[in-house]
Parts: sequence; C-alpha cells; structure tokens
Amino acid sequence: MEWEEEREKKRGHGWIWILAAALMGLAAVGGMMLFWNNQFSLELVLEGQEEVLLEYGDSYQEQGAHPVFFGSKMLRGGITPDIAVDIQNEINPERLGCYRVTYCAEFHGYRASAQRVVRVVDTVCPVIELVPGPDQLPGPGEHYKEDGFRASDNFDGDITDRVVRTEMEGKILYTVADSSGNSCSAERLLPGYDPIGPEITLEGDAKMVIPAGCFFQEPGYHAWDSRDGDMTDQVEIEGEVLWYKPGSYPIFYNATDSSGNISTVVRCVEVTGKPRPEVSEPEGKVIYLTFDDGPGPYTGALLDVLDKYDVKATFFVVNSGYDDVLREIVRRGHSIGIHTMSHAYNDIYASPEAYFGDLFGMRQRIMDITGVDTTLMRFPGGSSNTISCPNPGIMTLLTEAVQDAGFQYFDWNVDSNDAGGAKTANKVRENIISGVLGNRVSVVLQHDIHAYSVEAVEGVIRWGLDNGYTFLPLCENSPGFHHGVRN
Ligand code: ZN
Repeated sequence: MEWEEEREKKRGHGWIWILAAALMGLAAVGGMMLFWNNQFSLELVLEGQEEVLLEYGDSYQEQGAHPVFFGSKMLRGGITPDIAVDIQNEINPERLGCYRVTYCAEFHGYRASAQRVVRVVDTVCPVIELVPGPDQLPGPGEHYKEDGFRASDNFDGDITDRVVRTEMEGKILYTVADSSGNSCSAERLLPGYDPIGPEITLEGDAKMVIPAGCFFQEPGYHAWDSRDGDMTDQVEIEGEVLWYKPGSYPIFYNATDSSGNISTVVRCVEVTGKPRPEVSEPEGKVIYLTFDDGPGPYTGALLDVLDKYDVKATFFVVNSGYDDVLREIVRRGHSIGIHTMSHAYNDIYASPEAYFGDLFGMRQRIMDITGVDTTLMRFPGGSSNTISCPNPGIMTLLTEAVQDAGFQYFDWNVDSNDAGGAKTANKVRENIISGVLGNRVSVVLQHDIHAYSVEAVEGVIRWGLDNGYTFLPLCENSPGFHHGVRN
C-alpha cells in the first residue's frame, strides 16, 4: 500500500522533468550560439612607462608586461592566462641612443605584442677641479698666475680643453659643458686680486665754462683704489687751461695703482671770450686828451682847466694814492681807465697771470673808490712797447687776451713826448699841435704827473677850439688807435 502511493506521486510529477529537460536543451543551444558569436583577443599590457629614460652607464631594469585575454561578449573584463611573455631588447647602456623592448605572447592561437622605448641619455654634469692657489696674491703689481684646473665628464672624459676661464673682480670663473649640453662652473676667489684701477672723482663739474681772463682754479679731485686706498696725492694731471684764450681745454687726471691698473678721467674746461664792442668813428675833427700815470699833485689843477672849457678827457690811472682826485675825475664826468697798479714793467709783463693780477687789482681799486667798473685800459708803454721783450710774445698774447676778457685798450697817435725830451709846457703844446694837425681824429698821450705837461693843456684846448676841434672822452666804442705789436 505504501509503495502504491509512492508510485502515484511519481506519476503525478513527470511533466516537471520533461519541462526541465526542454529548458536545458534551449539553454545549451543558446550557449552554443553565444560562444560562436564571441570575438576573442589577447593583449599585452606594459608594466611602467611606455618610454623610459635610462642614465648612461646604469643597467636597465625590466618591469615586464602581462597578457590579458578578452572576449567581445563573454570575458569582457578579461582574464590573465598563465602564459610566458617573450621579451627581447638590445639595450646598450654604454651607448647613448634610442632602443626598443619587444614583448610577445601566444594563447591558444591568439598572439599579442607590445613595445617599450628606452632612451639612454647623459644628464650628469661634468666636474671641475681647481688646483689650490695662494691665500693671498704674491705682491703688489702682480696679477694672479693660474695654478691649474681640470674638467672631467662621465661620458666625455677629460674636457679640460673646453673650460672657459673668465677673470672677474676678485675671482676667476671657470665654466664647461659636456657634449650633451650639461654644464657646470667653479669659482676661484682671489683675496687681494685687483683688476680694477683707482676710482677718480672730480670735485666740481666735469664740464666747466669760465670767461676768458678769469684764472682757472683746479676744483679738486680724489682717487681711491680697492687695494691701495687713498691715492689722491698720486694723481698726475695732464693738460693746461689757457684761461686767457677762448677754447676748449681737456684736463686728464691719471692714476696707476700698485697692480698696474691705470685710470683716467677727463674734465673739459671751456674758456669763452667776450664779443668786442663795435667801434663808432666820431664825426668831424676830434681830439681825445688822455693822461697816464696819475692822479698826482697836478691833476686837481688840470681838472679845473678842463672844467673851464667844459672839456672832457680820459685818465688812465695808477694806484698812486690820490683817491680823492680819483673820485673827482669821475665826479666831473671824465672817462677813467686802468693803466696799472704798479707800473713795474718787469713785474707786470712777466706772465699773463702777473698782468691780469695787476689789471684786476687796479680795476677793483677804481671800483672801490669811484664806483665805476671800467673796461677801458692802456698798457704801460703802449701795446707796441719793447720793454716787455724779456718775455717774448707777451704783448701779442695780452693784446688779444684783454679784449677776450672784455677790456678795450687804447694806444695813441699823438705823443706829447712829455715823458721824453719835452720838458716845458711850450714844447709839449707844440708837439701836440703839430701832431694833431696831421690827423682828423687824434688820441693825445700826456702824463699828468708832470707840471709842465699839465700847464700845456690850456693852450692846446684854446688852439683846438679856435680851429674847430671837438674834445671828447674815450668810451668803449671809441677807436682804439692800436699800435703795431712788436713783441
Ligand atoms: Zn705809463
């Protein structure tokens, strides 16, 4: 009975088994269909970079590659089959260049390959070795003598001959590059090394402009050297400023340090001349009375005579001490000019400095006493004097120089000879009249330090006025009546 029941149960579930068998058949057919449509591939995946830089001399470390088996529908994530990968390379780390590493594998008829690029390069800098030198340079005046150096490179070997050596202030710089462009440098410090000359600095301007006739005074300078210190007292000056002659004058300041370095700086001094006033010729018959070497004891009386006829004259004065008379000359409207302070020929014509010293001294005296800053002047002895001949050429120099300095000098064309043979008023008057008769315009030379010469003046004035002459004082535009210069 129990067996019967069991049999009935089995008979009741038979259709389930049939259905399961049918489904399994369908699945098998589907699996077969899927398998046949699947695309498989084998790939090699590199470990590490596809391109590797290998330092020259280093050994190549293979990082390997692993195979992956893929399917387009099945095994899409891939599997790693346990197969060998064949690796081939010809890398020579002792030769710079580009190499390939080839990887190959096979799995059930599927093949794969991959490549890796390996570049053997030199990025190591060369090395410079310096042979040690002295702690201090041997002595003044000596430049550093090279103690030696060597440059070597891991690839190029000895590259000493490629070293570039540059001398700099206080050091020497050595630089070198290998054939791959790697460079290095080294310095050698040199205590006491002195490739630089003294530094010269000028007081005042490097370009100076001074008016002709003003003495040039050196404004000063300093020199300092990194090795020798203050060298101001060792500066040598070349060049001279002709302060009385317009032009450009370079002055060179030179200094040489104990290392033999020479420094030079230049100052340019430009001397400028004053333009000369235009000369205006007086009209008619004119007499310019001029009196040198005063004022003196007779000058006051002379001024009274001139006043009496309202005649204006010109006084070329010296530093005689008659200051009140000097003031009176100006007050009464006469022209005043510089003759000289000392009238000592040997002194004043000794040099341009001596002459101008005297000239400016007298100009200042006149200004201090009378308030007049005169530019009129007469050379002691006249511009044609030969008494200055112990100093050859001085009159040639001075006649130009005083005009460049803004002075107007006057000579004469009528000499009363009161400093020569004419010792009486009559003789002086005769000399003047006979001289004036030969000219339309006369500049008469007299000296108011002689009583007889002063006495002659009234007669000259009367004669002149009676004969249609005009008496005029000199001014800066008057004709100079310059003599021919004989020295
Ligand atoms: Zn004189």
